[in-house]
Amino acid sequence: MRGPRGGHHSVDPRSSGATLALDTLRSLYAEVDSLLDGWSCDASTDCCRFGVTGREPYPTAVELAALAQAVRARGGLPKRRSLPVVTAREASERRCALLSDAGKCLVYATRPFGCRTFFCERASGPAGESSRAMPKKEIARLGRAVADLSARFDPVDPGPRPLSKAVAAWNLRAR
Ligand code: SF4
Repeated sequence: MRGPRGGHHSVDPRSSGATLALDTLRSLYAEVDSLLDGWSCDASTDCCRFGVTGREPYPTAVELAALAQAVRARGGLPKRRSLPVVTAREASERRCALLSDAGKCLVYATRPFGCRTFFCERASGPAGESSRAMPKKEIARLGRAVADLSARFDPVDPGPRPLSKAVAAWNLRAR
């Protein structure tokens, strides 16, 4: 089966197996949030501008299914100004398609694992710890759990891919 528009998708997101996987994903996300409770970053939306950081999240199939569901629930992706109205600076920022014009994530509760853990050296802990004090082993364990869940969710999926490419393949623009 193909995804929302040409994107790979071999799982019916309405099946009971998919519902169970999406529930498990929510639990893993809750574990990540609890592990990183109190961690923050002053430049927190810089990582939603992939041209600023030079990197972007690589969500797995199960995470993309959850994201597509959240985007559909909010009525589709936001309309964007098209070139040439977009300035060169805006274009070079490479804003995530899920970031609102007001600078908020439109699918915050469902944002992928990479967005939840995408802290740079500017991140600080609840007691002012530097990013070196982040619980890296636990984060890696939860990352493996998400990857394993995704492999069970869609065994033929090609694997994690850039968020921008995956979202560009969707046909979920708001009308
Ligand atoms: S999904 Fe949300 S948190 Fe993640 S990069 Fe996009 S806007 Fe930012």
